[in-house]
Amino acid sequence: MLPRHLYIHIPFCARRCSYCDFSIAVRSQPPVEEYVTALRAEMDGLQRELEGATLDTVYMGGGTPSRLGGVGIRDVLKTVRERTRVANHAEITIEANPDDVNDMAVAHWVAAGVNRVSLGSQSFDQAALNWMHRTHDVSQIGRSVGTLKRGGIDNISLDLIFALPAHLRRSWESDLVRALDLGPTHLSLYGLTVEAHTPIARWADRGATVEGSEESYEEEFLAAHNAMTAAGFDHYEVSNFARPGKASRHNSAYWTGAPYLGVGPSAHSFDGSTRRWNVAAYSEWIRRLATGTTVIGCEESLTEENRSTEEVYLGLRTRSGRPITEDEIGRVQAWVQAGWAVIEEPVQNPRVRLTPTGWLRLDSLAADLAAQRALPVSVNS
Ligand code: SF4
Repeated sequence: MLPRHLYIHIPFCARRCSYCDFSIAVRSQPPVEEYVTALRAEMDGLQRELEGATLDTVYMGGGTPSRLGGVGIRDVLKTVRERTRVANHAEITIEANPDDVNDMAVAHWVAAGVNRVSLGSQSFDQAALNWMHRTHDVSQIGRSVGTLKRGGIDNISLDLIFALPAHLRRSWESDLVRALDLGPTHLSLYGLTVEAHTPIARWADRGATVEGSEESYEEEFLAAHNAMTAAGFDHYEVSNFARPGKASRHNSAYWTGAPYLGVGPSAHSFDGSTRRWNVAAYSEWIRRLATGTTVIGCEESLTEENRSTEEVYLGLRTRSGRPITEDEIGRVQAWVQAGWAVIEEPVQNPRVRLTPTGWLRLDSLAADLAAQRALPVSVNS
């Protein structure tokens, strides 16, 4: 199957945020030419998969893609267009940090075809931003949204993090109001979790409180659902809200199990039956491309059972839910009674979708439904 969705991992960040365990390369000055040269080499090796493909979405994620600046992103998209076709109305997204957004960069992005920006705002509370080790300040969030709109990009998603530790005294309600005041088309919300090898994990080891309580996690998640739906947003996936017609087409493809191609360090690809992923370290990715060695670090073949298990999990993440069989109805009815799920079209084509309180239990409910068919994935490295 030819991919219609391309993910490009651009790993550069000015420094590591306190909660971040992503695959990044900390650089004060990103090596733009070195990166684009390596990207060209990787995409040349994917000619068989790219030739004949037409991309509906291109998503530049990271790291911080906006660190490449206007010219760097222009060269990345030129590299893509020289090797495959991009549909006329493709969704082309770049993740950006507010401090990288300026008129010149936005002009280059728009000229290169970028029509959607996912802005890493995270909070409108300066003490919270400092604690997260973010490089931007509160005032830069509003300014960057203004710059994007003035430059012609009005499809803007904001990221916010909830369930911060209570000692920060951040007002979640105030953050939601201030985000809405900027007129975004989309919001992505992430509950803070402590991942290994992050600065906050080290702080926790030393006895500091680095995350909110379970109660605050639930309260803030439900408060966000209420505030955003009251403002006219569709809570279309457990972590995502969109104005009508503004759901992320790229991420929605992941949740429906569509094939996609990923390039750049740590990027994942899926062809409908096999998933593979690149080596994560930037230096290793560069070294392998310079020596003509494969950048694929690992791959896994999904069995029918594995795919079925994934389909359960991915379906339950989304507002449209998933079809249920007669065998599953009894199990799901218990969820309905608990207020965690709704059964739609119960007679003809029954589907289950989780309610917001059900989404708070997503992992355990998905595991419950998938348990009867879960089998181990075979991994080849
Ligand atoms: S900007 Fe994003 S990718 Fe970079 S360190 Fe911060 S959270 Fe991680």
